[in-house]
Amino acid sequence: MVIEMRIVILSDFDGTIIHSDGFEELLKIYAKTEYPSLMSAFNQERIDSETLLQRGFDALLQRATLADLNQILDKIQVDPSFPLLAEFCKENEYELIIVSDGLDWYIKRILGRYGLENLPTITNIVTFDDNHVRLSFPWRDMQCRICHGQYGTCKGKAVREHKNSGAYVAIIGDGLTDRCGIYDADLIFAKSKLKTYCSSAGYPFCEFHDFTDIINALRNASLQ
Ligand SMILES: [Mg+2]
Ligand SMILES: [Zn+2]
Repeated sequence: MVIEMRIVILSDFDGTIIHSDGFEELLKIYAKTEYPSLMSAFNQERIDSETLLQRGFDALLQRATLADLNQILDKIQVDPSFPLLAEFCKENEYELIIVSDGLDWYIKRILGRYGLENLPTITNIVTFDDNHVRLSFPWRDMQCRICHGQYGTCKGKAVREHKNSGAYVAIIGDGLTDRCGIYDADLIFAKSKLKTYCSSAGYPFCEFHDFTDIINALRNASLQ
């Protein structure tokens, strides 16, 4: 018997699809003074994602225009194996969705250079109006037992929404904001800090180095 199942692949962006963090790349150049203290405050959970992004933009826009920021983004490359995963998912009718506690603006801009701007995203939203930014966080989850609303986008909420609609859900990530997503996911691909976290929390995961490892694992898992 063949069971038809929706297969959803949720992939982190910063540190996973690109090798750096898009927003941090901007801060490093146009908010050098504020960057270290902002990041350490965020990593120690003294400020949430919203505060980090808001204060980051306040600093950036004192010294740079939107065009200056876009110029930095236009130098950021995606991992060369990511377009292969996008192609693989298309061929197999897997839904590939970006889940990120970053921003739709830079994700779409960077992916656009690879013709991948139409991949769906679950992320924080920014709109620019003259030199003002408006941030919104449609995927925040105050009830999450990991982030308690500290992250603008709770990946646990994203996983649960897809699980509740009956999908099989795989999650791919490298960092601490990916932790929310692992509890309810069916399959975890982890590297770097997420790998360390999964190991110490006793969660089974597949280690990956780049997306070719993920393609091979998905092929071998014969999900249909
Ligand atoms: Mg990451
Ligand atoms: Zn969460």
